[in-house]
Order: sequence, then structure tokens, then C-alpha cells
Amino acid sequence: MAAADYRRVIVKLSGEALSGSEPFGIDQATADRFAADLIAAQALGVTLGVVVGGGNLLRGATAASHGADRTIADVMGMLATVMNALALESAIERRGAKARTVSALAMPQVCETYERRAARRHLDEGRIVLFAGGTGNPFFTTDTTAVLRAAEMGADAVLKATNVDGVYSADPKKDPAATRYERLGFDEALDKRLGVMDLTAFSLARDHAIPIIVFSIREPGAVESVLRGTGRATIVGG
Ligand code: UDP
Repeated sequence: MAAADYRRVIVKLSGEALSGSEPFGIDQATADRFAADLIAAQALGVTLGVVVGGGNLLRGATAASHGADRTIADVMGMLATVMNALALESAIERRGAKARTVSALAMPQVCETYERRAARRHLDEGRIVLFAGGTGNPFFTTDTTAVLRAAEMGADAVLKATNVDGVYSADPKKDPAATRYERLGFDEALDKRLGVMDLTAFSLARDHAIPIIVFSIREPGAVESVLRGTGRATIVGG
């Protein structure tokens, strides 16, 4: 299936992407740019779910390495993803599109609690669904959340937004001879230790044959270009 044929996708946005050029926090202009991109992508007739990370605010493993209890630190990380999701939700709604944050951690005063059928209905009804709170469990990542939600929502692919325009044979910042892959099999990516996602996320994608499209979110309109099949990206397992 070509990217231009995808009808439902989960976009994985790292927390770091939301901080824009700042080292920390939520950069409103960046949130606005992502909102515009997501709305343009939706206008192609694609239903969109978004899993947001929390690394711009807090990562559990980092906090634990400074002495915090790991499970508590992970809960703090999951709470960070809720803040990011709410920032994106309001940026999308300010532009007149419909968005709904659903959290794997119940916080009814803040947003809806994730429930599979309700979330699918939001997608069917044309809302951009922001999946917050990760999986709701410590020791997991939002990459794993993205693949899990893709499987649950019946998505055609996970679009993993990064700072580089695909998967390279080596780190392009360190090795000028590094080449970008257009397509890669799951096993090839594993054998070559290309580290597309953490292993839990990756093996879930492989087991359920959910392709992972790695692309750069630095360019405005990146999600839309990937879905048109014109953007630079690496398709893993597609
Ligand atoms: N997290 C978690 N369980 C999950 C997803 C996330 O405990 O299912 C926590 C974990 O501490 C992680 C933090 O939330 O470090 C932020 O998520 P992630 O590191 O995946 O964000 P990203 O790197 O994409 O910004």
C-alpha cells in the first residue's frame, strides 16, 4: 500500500518536536504549525490520530537516573504528554477543526478517558484524536503507544515524526557517507540495528504488520506531503 492510499494513520510526535527551537517546554508557534499541518493532512480525506510524547517536559528514565522512583517518574512523564496533547488540541480547535484529547490516565475534569470504541467513533466522525497519557503504564514509551493505538484504531500506518527525513545507514550528522533508505523490511531494520523505534514498539509493529513511516517534521506541511506520497521518508515494513 502506498502512502497516498492510507485512509487512517497515527502520527507520533515527540515532545521534543513541540519545544521548537527552545530546549524545553511548549513552543506555541510550533504547536500552531503542527495544527495547520494536521488539518491540511485531514483535508486529504485521511482520519488522524496523534500520539504525543513528553520528552520536552519530562522523561521517566532521565528523572529516575537523578534519583526519582522510576514508576512515579514515568507517571510524571505520562502527565507531561497530557499537557502537550492539550496544547495541540487547543491549537487545532483555534483553527476551526475538531479535536479531542483522550487520556489513558483518567482525569475526567481535564479530558476524556481513553476508551477504544469511543476513540474510533471520534475518528469516524472526523475529529483529530490526541492520544495522551501514553499506554497508561510505566516502563513503556509513546512510540509503543503509537503502534498500540494504530492496531486498536485499525490504522494503515504509524507516521513517526523525527528531526531527520528518514532512516539512514549511519548517523548522517556524523557520517557524510550515510545513505537514506526509501524502504526497509522489519527484519532488515532489526538486523542492521537501525533503531527505528524501541524494541517493544518495533516488535508490536512487526507482529501486526503496521508500517512505520519515518519523516522529518521540520518542514512545514510534512505530514500532508508524506500522505500525498511526495515527501521524503523511509517506509519500514510497508
Ligand atoms: N511514559 C510511560 N508509559 C507510556 C508512555 C510514556 O511511562 O506508555 C512516560 C515515560 O516516562 C516517558 C515519558 O512518559 O519517558 C514521555 O514519553 P516519551 O519518552 O515516549 O516521549 P518522547 O520521547 O516521544 O517525547
